[in-house]
Amino acid sequence: MTTSPDQTRPSGKPCAYCGEPMSRAAGNIVTKEHVLPLWLMPYLGDPAQGGVTHTIRQGVRGPVLREWTTDTLDLAAKKVCRECNNGWMNDLENLAKPHLIPLLEGNRRVLDAPTQRILAAWAVKTALALGLANAGAKAIDVEHYRALTTLKRRPPPKTHVWLSAYRGWRHAFHHQSTLTLTDSKGSVDGYASTVSVTRPIFHVAGHSHAHEVDIVKGGIWPFAAVQIWPVLGLAHWPTRMIVDDDQLLSMATTWKTRDFVG
Ligand SMILES: [Zn+2]
Repeated sequence: MTTSPDQTRPSGKPCAYCGEPMSRAAGNIVTKEHVLPLWLMPYLGDPAQGGVTHTIRQGVRGPVLREWTTDTLDLAAKKVCRECNNGWMNDLENLAKPHLIPLLEGNRRVLDAPTQRILAAWAVKTALALGLANAGAKAIDVEHYRALTTLKRRPPPKTHVWLSAYRGWRHAFHHQSTLTLTDSKGSVDGYASTVSVTRPIFHVAGHSHAHEVDIVKGGIWPFAAVQIWPVLGLAHWPTRMIVDDDQLLSMATTWKTRDFVG
């Protein structure tokens, strides 16, 4: 058997989502995926006021690790192949956009099941992309990326998504926590990611346990968050409690193993 030079040459790095090698030879090049899409810009404050400041901190109140200001959103995950970026990810973005805009504008909504599914899938895509863009965060298990690539328009199994409403000075916020789930057979990893974009806040939690687990959150959670995945029924937004800045930070950081009931 003979092999061509291209086949024996080491292939490019795998796409974070689909796992296919990214190289010119494979016809599937690496692309710059905008973690927060550029169409969000008009909702993220007034560009005349000096552009967009991006701040990366250690923890939510810790020292600033990196801060930069640009005239547009500048947070990209360069680990995504062209087929994913221009294909299903772009399709999901376009599907979610008409459902996201009323939330960004602060309009009262009753979300039906298909709308919750699309918004939840978008939230998972965004949380996974932010996991790639934030070098300080512990990597999210690759199975979540593969599963979303397969399902495309619905969140993967072993994933929960909630929606909250925010009123405060921040334009956008992201914080990712690492979860460790322990049972009699050992420990498995999970992640929790809170993403706010002006008014809507999405909380995404995923795990790698062999079985589905219920996630029960106390404190203000029952008043300040509505579960949109798995779908439980109609979801009213904004929630009864609209969270302020302190509450946003506390919701983003109160993830503990005991939240999980096997
Ligand atoms: Zn890909």
